[in-house]
This record gives sequence, C-alpha cells and structure tokens, in this order.
Amino acid sequence: MLDFNARPKIQDQITNLIDVALIRERAGQTSRDYLGASRLGVACERALQYEYKNTPVDVGRGFSGRLLRIFEVGHTLENLAIRWLRMAGFDLYTQKASGGQFGFSVAGGRIQGHIDGVLNSGLTEFEMRYPALWECKTMNDKSWRDTVKQGVTKSKPVYAAQVAVYQAYMEASIPGISANPALFTAINKDTQKIWFELLPFDGELAQRMSDRAVRIITATDSQELLPRHATTPTHVECKFCSWQDRCWATHANGSAA
Ligand code: SF4
Repeated sequence: MLDFNARPKIQDQITNLIDVALIRERAGQTSRDYLGASRLGVACERALQYEYKNTPVDVGRGFSGRLLRIFEVGHTLENLAIRWLRMAGFDLYTQKASGGQFGFSVAGGRIQGHIDGVLNSGLTEFEMRYPALWECKTMNDKSWRDTVKQGVTKSKPVYAAQVAVYQAYMEASIPGISANPALFTAINKDTQKIWFELLPFDGELAQRMSDRAVRIITATDSQELLPRHATTPTHVECKFCSWQDRCWATHANGSAA
C-alpha cells in the first residue's frame, strides 16, 4: 500500500526542533546597545549604522538555526585552541579573575569590544613579545586557505581592523599590548589545520576605524542616514546585507523611496 502522506524524516524533525529552540533562545537575549568594535572594518557605514541602531533586519534575513549552530561550533573550537596553546606553553588569559572576558568600553559605553585573550608569555622567537593580543577565528577550508595565501590584512580586512582597534583600546588596561604584534589564530573547520600570523599594531588603521565609529555615532544621534557603500543593490556587500530591502527602499535622507 502506498503512503501518500509522507511525514518529515527523523533528521529533519529533530534538526528543526533544535533550530527552533536556538532561535527562541537567541530572541530572548538582550540586544546590544553599543557599536561593536569588532565590526568597525565592515565595508558599509550605513550597514554598521543599522546594526548600531538595532534596526530590524529584512523579513527572512534573521539568523537561521544553522547559522546559530555554526557560531556555537566556532566558540567550542576556540575553547580547544585555548587548551592547545596552553599545552604548547603559552600563558594565555581569557577571563578576568572576577569572571567574564577582557574588554573595553569607550565613548560613554557606546563603543565596546571583548577580546579573545591576552598572551603573557610563551614562545620568544618570530618577533613574539608579551603582553600580546590573541584573536581566534574559525573558518571553512576555502576561507582558511585564502587567509593563508594572502595574509589576514588582505584576505580578512574586517579582522585586521578588529585587531588594530582592540590593540589600541586595550592599551589603557594592558600597557604594552599595542607595542607587540598580536597573534592571530585561524582554525580550519574542515581539516583542523591551524594558521598563526603575527599582526604588528597598525596605528593608522586603528585611528581610521575609531574615526569611523565616531562618524556612525554622531550621524545616528543627528538622525542622519550615512551614504551607501554601493551604487547598486546587486553589489556583493548588499546581496549579503541584512537590510538590503530597507536600504534600497530609502532615500539618502532616510525617507521611504
Ligand atoms: S544594502 Fe548595501 S548599501 Fe545598503 S546598508 Fe546594506 S551593504 Fe550598505
């Protein structure tokens, strides 16, 4: 007898239950009310402004359960990297004695960042000096190989900007951190290969990003919508932007098109 009422398969059913729970959990979290310093290198200032203002994303552009699972796998791999570096002899601090990540808060709390860790001692070759900022990312094979081939600054300018801003803003609480190269770590999620790269402090980049943050905050305070990064909604940045519909349905002065 043929069954014309095919039911969802077990893998779809359980995955869906997990994803619904993850999305519900995410929705219950307080959204941040500051400009995340890790995002300052993002190409489009208008997108950063939407993010800072907690502007609702376009319909269907919210985080999917799969994306939330990808984030959690990344966090778990980062914990493994901490363990591996400590086993390799690095004195790596990732939590304050009172709990919580190390970080900074400037401009009256309107720009904040939380760092992955601080290296206090370890390998002394290859220009490694301490204290040094530690930044860890996880990537798929394609992205990881591009990072290895081109280097962080060229392949992942948003991460390079994040590192420069973190080095600059952490100097007040960890003197010397901006004088020493940061150790960037990238874990390949497909092969478990690890890439390490030393990033000397780029003060000019940090200043540019800091100026950008001020521009975004000032424009938002005066209800000015910053210019688009692109001239067409088919630009690659726009295709992956969570506010694509809103942005292109809006005039430069912020009114509806
Ligand atoms: S749609 Fe494009 S121009 Fe508009 S905010 Fe997003 S990235 Fe910027």
